[in-house]
Amino acid sequence: MLSVEQAQGKILDRIHRLEPEKVPVLESLGCVLAVDVVSDIDVAPFDNSAMDGYAVRTADVAGASDETPVVLSVVDHIAAGSMPAVRVGPGQASRIMTGAPVPDGADAVVMVEVTESLEGAGSTGGTVAIKRASVLGEHIRLKGEDVQVGQTVLRTGEVVNPASVGLMAALGFSEVAVYRRPRIAIVSTGDELVGITETPGPGKIRNSNSYSLAAQVLAAGGIPHQLGIAHDNDADTRAILSRAPEFDLMVTTGGVSMGDFDVVKDVLEQIGELEFWKVAMRPGAPQTYGTIGGTPFFGLPGNPTSCMVGFELFVRPVVRKMRGFSDLFRPRVRAVLSEDTKKKSDRRYFLRGVLDRPASMQGAPCYTARLSGRQSSAMLTAMHRANCLIALPEGMSSVPAGSVVECIRLDCEEEYQ
Ligand code: AMP
Ligand code: MG
Repeated sequence: MLSVEQAQGKILDRIHRLEPEKVPVLESLGCVLAVDVVSDIDVAPFDNSAMDGYAVRTADVAGASDETPVVLSVVDHIAAGSMPAVRVGPGQASRIMTGAPVPDGADAVVMVEVTESLEGAGSTGGTVAIKRASVLGEHIRLKGEDVQVGQTVLRTGEVVNPASVGLMAALGFSEVAVYRRPRIAIVSTGDELVGITETPGPGKIRNSNSYSLAAQVLAAGGIPHQLGIAHDNDADTRAILSRAPEFDLMVTTGGVSMGDFDVVKDVLEQIGELEFWKVAMRPGAPQTYGTIGGTPFFGLPGNPTSCMVGFELFVRPVVRKMRGFSDLFRPRVRAVLSEDTKKKSDRRYFLRGVLDRPASMQGAPCYTARLSGRQSSAMLTAMHRANCLIALPEGMSSVPAGSVVECIRLDCEEEYQ
């Protein structure tokens, strides 16, 4: 049996990022850029005021204070979005709003809070008392101080965040090239399955895995295509699995263990290539991987938690690699296990757990990890409550409370994918 790392290695070696596509700039959020973004403008595009106040000449207000205010005549009123009408001469000031262009002649802006409008408040023709001296360039945002013409603002390989979207918008990019999201076929197998809107008859259950998988695909930034349910027979399974080449990836659930009607592996061998079908782990040892017509194929187990853990460990990194990410895996932290656990020593365990950061141990902040509920792979509630997978290594048959264990954080997903 392969170890988890061997299985991940075998899979990822053969996965390449998908080709770039142009998307509307907002849809690039959370994607990996496939181009450098180079500015053809300066930001700010012109010298402008950082404050609501008065554009002045520093020489005029050199000695200004509360006790010795300097009175200037107001020659202009410049709103954001309009241009100055006149130059500021000696003894003069222009009322100016945040973002409005600084008029010629002025070399600083005095904020309105340290001024007093004496006559004709808010309009030109009045006077203003300036009560504070000002230094050259004060409260002026210079042309090009954030971005200059020709500057590479974002680089190929960067992940687009909300500020990157804003920057591209400022530079006039309505579209940008990012690595494409994979289209992922999701297939459930099992004669016991019915659609989620149906009331299951005797011996039947709802096809929930198709939904947990589609949700995991979405969370990883892929595009799920739920192809429905294949019955536990060769012909049905073959018909639906042979659609794999229509997609970038196919994921099935169920039908890969030792049951009399588990046909997925056989069909994979008939119509594609089987690479491996077992990984030394729990939950869900029968993790199957291969290709059909060159399309990567994952046969995940049917038990709801085994299926989700299989996706998490093997499919999610593939989705990220296809999307051009260099960081394929979740962050891991070390934590102190808060309860005794037993395990089979030849398997890596991935227990569903909750990481807490309640206290400090010898001064260093540390996490504790506890189980999030009953650990049967048929039960989804503990997975639902988990914020981590507690990884217990091979070679141990029990891990006592107080042991330091490695945990895969499930709660560090970027909010946008
Ligand atoms: P299998 O791997 O096909 O032997 O299925 C293992 C267990 O998972 C069985 O109890 C199945 O009923 C259950 N199961 C399989 N597929 C699904 C599914 N799509 N949704 C919910 N449970 C499933
Ligand atoms: Mg089955």
